[in-house]
Amino acid sequence: MPHNPRILISGASIAGPALAYWLDRFGFRPTIVERAPRLRPGGNGVDLRGESLRIAGLMGILPRLRERATDIRELTFVDAAGRRVAGMPTSTFNDDGDIEIMRGDLARILHETSSDKVDYVFGDSIRTLTQRPDAVEVTFDSGREAEFDLVLGADGLHSRVRNLVIAPEADALHHLGLYFATGQVAPELGRPGEVVLHNSPGRVAGVYRSASHDIATGFFMFREPRILDLDHRDQDAQKALLRTTFDARAWTLPQVLSQAAASPDFYFDSVSQIRLPRWSASRVALVGDAGYCATLLSGAGAALALEGAHQLATELAAADGDYTTAFARYESALRPIVSKRQRAVRASSAMLAPATTSHIWIRNQLTRLMVLQPLAARVFRATPATAA
Ligand SMILES: Cc1cc2nc3c(=O)[nH]c(=O)nc-3n(C[C@H](O)[C@H](O)[C@H](O)COP(=O)(O)OP(=O)(O)OC[C@H]3O[C@@H](n4cnc5c(N)ncnc54)[C@H](O)[C@@H]3O)c2cc1C
Repeated sequence: MPHNPRILISGASIAGPALAYWLDRFGFRPTIVERAPRLRPGGNGVDLRGESLRIAGLMGILPRLRERATDIRELTFVDAAGRRVAGMPTSTFNDDGDIEIMRGDLARILHETSSDKVDYVFGDSIRTLTQRPDAVEVTFDSGREAEFDLVLGADGLHSRVRNLVIAPEADALHHLGLYFATGQVAPELGRPGEVVLHNSPGRVAGVYRSASHDIATGFFMFREPRILDLDHRDQDAQKALLRTTFDARAWTLPQVLSQAAASPDFYFDSVSQIRLPRWSASRVALVGDAGYCATLLSGAGAALALEGAHQLATELAAADGDYTTAFARYESALRPIVSKRQRAVRASSAMLAPATTSHIWIRNQLTRLMVLQPLAARVFRATPATAA
């Protein structure tokens, strides 16, 4: 491999820009290709804690993250009339020093930190990858062709890089039995500093409104044991499904639903993990959700993306051209952390979207029992509003 290798990264959300930042800092020449025409806004609050905050500190972005941090103090469950039936302060499950930030703000800060040094190409996507002993030949949807020394997939749950080189989606994706959707809504639908949630059996809808932001997001989660025959990019079909699933006239649901569905940053996907026997093949490797998605129920998607990006770049820099060793070291360092996070998701769905009316009642009682706060703390660490 040349001393200053050309590296192509697919995907510019959290993992991609963080990886590009570190690769540039270590002397590589990264290019990022992102399918969307511009940086994608949207999403709810995502948590950064522990190692991911240390990495953010090394990147010099901690002051900006703190400045844009969300201010959510309360989780409130309401009934069909909008009356509080249960809830808890967020101090129950957050540690001092943790940062919660809107996913879109984090993506923007990471982009700003890398965009003057890294070549970003929006509105294009890898079409084919051909691995040769000395390089990877890449063709793009735009018709462009290029050669790179390495290709790194940071293109999320439905990663094209993974599908082309590592494993078909049917083998990699493990559905957790839920679907999730989100989109921006009018701030008046929320309460400043609160996440308000309304349950019906197997479903939860909510409004997330940070007191330090002038926007609010609506979000929805529902139980569906199968992976539906639904194109993950067909937003019309996704919105139609959401409307039939949440058709009750409860709480402010109709407004939340219609506004979130009309929002330009509408996002919908299955809640599914990516589990792979290996994260690389020859000159290609995966990072973030593309390689090891833990889901929003883990409370760690963004943190694992930052940690993976830093680890991968560090190993590539240390390996002095031996990318096979770098990929192996990256995977063996990160896999135990990812596995732990992937295992820790089960209780979150039971607490967030209880399957029956009696389960909702039990959940409400549990949240009231202050003696069970430590247990509640663990499972509530990963609400859609407080976790990525
Ligand atoms: C718009 C949006 C909203 C989200 N909202 C939430 C939320 O509310 N809560 C939550 O917990 N998590 C949310 N997520 C997921 C969360 O960002 C990730 O779980 C986590 O931060 C890890 O990030 P990632 O960069 O690995 O993957 P992602 O954040 O999924 O980013 C993948 C990126 O790759 C791009 N991409 C996909 N396919 C291609 C392709 N073929 N070529 C080029 N680029 C491609 C995508 O457009 C995207 O920008 C959201 C993601 C997106 C994109």
